[in-house]
Amino acid sequence: MRFSGISWSGNGFEVTVLDAGTERVSAPVPFGIREADAMIAYVRRLAPETVAVIDSTNGMLDGRMMATGVTVYRADPQSLPPRPAFGSVTSGELARAARRDLAALTRLVRNRGTQTGREDELEAWNASSVDAVAALAAAGHCLSRGQPEQRQVALTFDDGPHPPYTGQVLDILERYGVPATFFCIGLNAGARVEEIERMGALGHEFGNHTWSHPFLPELSHAELAEQIARTAEVIAQANGGATPSLFRPPYGSRTPRVLGWLGELEPRVVLWDVEAADWAMPGADVIARRVLDQARSGSIILLHDGGGDRSQTVAALPMIIEGLLERGYQFVRVADLAARAGHDVRGPAGHAPARAG
Ligand code: ZN
Repeated sequence: MRFSGISWSGNGFEVTVLDAGTERVSAPVPFGIREADAMIAYVRRLAPETVAVIDSTNGMLDGRMMATGVTVYRADPQSLPPRPAFGSVTSGELARAARRDLAALTRLVRNRGTQTGREDELEAWNASSVDAVAALAAAGHCLSRGQPEQRQVALTFDDGPHPPYTGQVLDILERYGVPATFFCIGLNAGARVEEIERMGALGHEFGNHTWSHPFLPELSHAELAEQIARTAEVIAQANGGATPSLFRPPYGSRTPRVLGWLGELEPRVVLWDVEAADWAMPGADVIARRVLDQARSGSIILLHDGGGDRSQTVAALPMIIEGLLERGYQFVRVADLAARAGHDVRGPAGHAPARAG
C-alpha cells in the first residue's frame, strides 16, 4: 500500500507519496490554487493501491476525491505535529502519519462525510453551545431563522464555487429570478473568480465559509481569524471590494469558545433551520421533498453547490423553487431576511449531521 499526503496552504496544495517501506515514491508535487482538479486527477491515477490522507482542517477535497473512487483517510491533530497558523501540516507529515499507524486515522465514508466517526463529538459540541448561540443571537450576531410573520424564505448554497454545479445553480436561479446567498470556501473562490463575479452581477449575496472548511472546535483564535480574513479578501477582490458580512461555520461546528471569537470577529453567524442532506446524495426527489416538508415562513434553507457531485442538488432546485412559489413564499437573501427578523433567540436546530454546512 502507498500513502499520498495532501497538504494545503494559501497557494494551493502539495502531494507527497510514500510506500509502506522507507522509500519516498516521488518528490513533493505542488499544485496551484486553480489546480485542484489536476491534483485530484493525479491522486486518482495512483489509486487503488494508494490511499489519500488529509488533515481535519481540510474539508474541501474528500467529497470530490471520493466521488472519483479514491479512498480517503482523515488524520486528526493527535496523530500529527503542530501545524502553522494558516495551512495544514506538510504533505510528507500526513503521508508519514498514515504509514506509521493507519489504524489511528479514520477512513472516510462518502455519505457520512469529512467528520466520519466523530458525529457524536460534533453533536456534543453543538449541544454545549446552545446558550452561547442564544447570547450571540440576542446581540444580533447570529441567525438560524427569520421571523415567521413574512412569507419569505432564503436559499443558501455552501462549499462552492465548484464547476459545473455552481454555474448550473446560477442558471436556474436566473431563470426563475430568484436571489440566493452563497457561503463560499476561500480556496474555491480564489480559483473561480469569474463565478464570484457572476454571482455579484446577478445580485446574489456572499457569505464566508472559511478558506479550507476546517472543523472549528480544533482551531486556535489565530487560525480562525486567518481563515475568515483570507476568504473575505478573495471574495472582496472579485466583488468590487465588498467584504461578506455573513459567516457560516463548516459542518455547523461550534463551541462556546468559537462563538465568543466569532462575536468579536464581526461577521454575523448564519445557521439554518431546513436541510436536506443533499451532500449525501439521497436522490433529487428526496432532496426536494425534504426541503418542501420542512420549509416555513422565515426558513433558511441549506443546500450545497460544491464539495462533491452536486448533480442531484441541481436537479432538485427547480422542484424546490416551484414548490415554494406554489405555496406562496417569496425568496430573499439572508441579509434581507435578517433585516426584518431582528434578533433570533430561539437558537438553531439542535442536530447537525456531520457534513452539513
Ligand atoms: Zn460547508
